[in-house]
Amino acid sequence: MSHRLGSMQTLPSPMRRFRESDIVDYCIVGVGSAGGVLVQRLARAGFRVVGLEAGPFWNTEKDWVSDEKGSHELYWNDLRITGGTHPLALGANNSGKGVGGGSVHWAAFAPRFHPSDFRVYTEDGVGFDWPMSYWDLKPYYELLERELPVAGPAWFPWGDPHGHPYGPHPLGGVGDVLVRGCTKLGIRSVAGGPVAILSASHGERPHCIYRGFCLQGCKVGAKASTLITHVPDAISHGAEIRAHAMASRISLRDDGRVDGVVYFDREGKEHLQRARAVIVSGYAIETPRLLLNSACPGHRHGLANSSGTLGKYLMAQAGNVVAGKFDELIRLYKAPPAHALSEEFYETDPRRGFARGFAVQTVGPLPVAFAKQMVAAMGAWGWGMRQVMLDYNHWATLGVLGEILPWEDNRVELAEEKDQHGLPVAKVTFNLHDNDKKLIEFGKNKVMEIMWAAGAKQVVQESRFAHLVGATRMGSDPATSVVDKFGRTHDIPNLFVCDGSILPTQGSANPGLTIQALAARTADYLIKQGDAIFYSNRRALQEPGIRYDLSPPFTRFKGNPHIA
Ligand SMILES: Cc1cc2nc3c(=O)[nH]c(=O)nc-3n(C[C@H](O)[C@H](O)[C@H](O)COP(=O)(O)OP(=O)(O)OC[C@H]3O[C@@H](n4cnc5c(N)ncnc54)[C@H](O)[C@@H]3O)c2cc1C
Ligand code: SF4
Repeated sequence: MSHRLGSMQTLPSPMRRFRESDIVDYCIVGVGSAGGVLVQRLARAGFRVVGLEAGPFWNTEKDWVSDEKGSHELYWNDLRITGGTHPLALGANNSGKGVGGGSVHWAAFAPRFHPSDFRVYTEDGVGFDWPMSYWDLKPYYELLERELPVAGPAWFPWGDPHGHPYGPHPLGGVGDVLVRGCTKLGIRSVAGGPVAILSASHGERPHCIYRGFCLQGCKVGAKASTLITHVPDAISHGAEIRAHAMASRISLRDDGRVDGVVYFDREGKEHLQRARAVIVSGYAIETPRLLLNSACPGHRHGLANSSGTLGKYLMAQAGNVVAGKFDELIRLYKAPPAHALSEEFYETDPRRGFARGFAVQTVGPLPVAFAKQMVAAMGAWGWGMRQVMLDYNHWATLGVLGEILPWEDNRVELAEEKDQHGLPVAKVTFNLHDNDKKLIEFGKNKVMEIMWAAGAKQVVQESRFAHLVGATRMGSDPATSVVDKFGRTHDIPNLFVCDGSILPTQGSANPGLTIQALAARTADYLIKQGDAIFYSNRRALQEPGIRYDLSPPFTRFKGNPHIA
């Protein structure tokens, strides 16, 4: 009997199922961008692994439709409370729900962070330094760029300059606007990536056909998501992915070590999955929520929260969208939304009057998303909205992706409201601070300038935010952080966190590649430590050495061009 996950994911054998009484080695909560990579690595290394996933196991063929409204189910739509001076839009604007998590609906822009992102406090006196350097992560960036794989320009000039394993995509109408506007103003830009979308076939996966439904999951299979890049390999190596399993609490033994995860199945029945170690990979909101909901005697304020920082220093990137109307046809929907960018303004420039910077990127909203943006950007409504939408094919949209700093008052807490399982939901508070406001103002104006320079006849903009990270941050000091540089909680030796929530700062690169590179590094660390994780409290902090042999098929022998 074969296990069929979708048209391209027919596996030769059924998925392994552990019994309720089995004690597995690792129980991973959340099989998304990070969880998918972790589960694959640990299964390949021979560990007994269960991935608990709150959402469904997507069948790409049957469950997905090339339609904006029909893809609503891809998101975490459960109740969340939002507040603060600049409340974040939750739901479709942040995390996924279902195997693959946010990597199912991401646009797949895959730039690396810059070396300076790991030393923000040292270089600019703001934010925090990471407990590791860019150079520790660089081999994992290169590895994940091959595994997804990433298509992009042969010369990416910013940060640590590098090439990409797959060639760039052709330029769509929006990319053309970005390149044209930047060129007019003397701003360097790149086109065709970096994006985790195939510009040529890869194993059984076909190349992109430029139909623009990337945020709807990509039925074609050209866009990378852990659902198709890592999960099939995990299952082939004996991992169980248990869908519709909503973790409610991490179970703690009397000796201060965790021994499993309590979860609700699809019917609302409670189970305990026992494990020798637990890794939480639930996203920047659900990870702190689960740890806070796991409060118990000895951990009154949540698990792994002796520092009091759990839930704090949540970040979102400034994601203002600038729309410009052109005489000529642009056709926003043709080509992946993610295919051209400039990181010319990424680093701190003291002349601008604020620390850190921003990127300029293409965005390609389909009609429903575009209509919503135009309500906010120009108050379009009724007949006015009809007029705007009649001209949909003449509009181009470019995005600011700006670094908002980590602030203590931006946080995830537990609300009084409960979800369908009776669990307190997350309350997300988000405030903009002085540096953030100055950065957004500058970035927004610069992108509008680029749009005018490209020849737009009308330019409007919508303020928004994107990409939540932080709230369970990593650091060397247990007094100011939740986990160490390998994601191990400072307080509980066999409890780990590995997802976007551990980022201390966020740069102005999209976070997905970094999150997956960190997951591969954490997996190498766990594999190197072997059984010591299960029995010992000793905290080894040496780099593990990279395990190239653990990559999924078809990725090992493709090279990244190295640029001297
Ligand atoms: C519209 C959109 C476009 C984006 N485009 C890009 C892009 O172009 N490039 C980029 O780098 N990033 C992009 N992102 C961001 C990117 O998707 C996320 O940063 C990334 O997926 C986060 O990874 P993660 O592992 O932290 O969490 P996720 O990938 O969200 O995984 C978390 C998983 O945990 C599960 N889970 C949570 N709680 C529980 C629980 N209690 N029990 C069981 N399971 C649970 C969830 O269902 C989910 O599947 C985009 C995001 C959005 C919303
Ligand atoms: S544009 Fe390419 S990556 Fe996006 S949905 Fe279409 S085939 Fe998939």
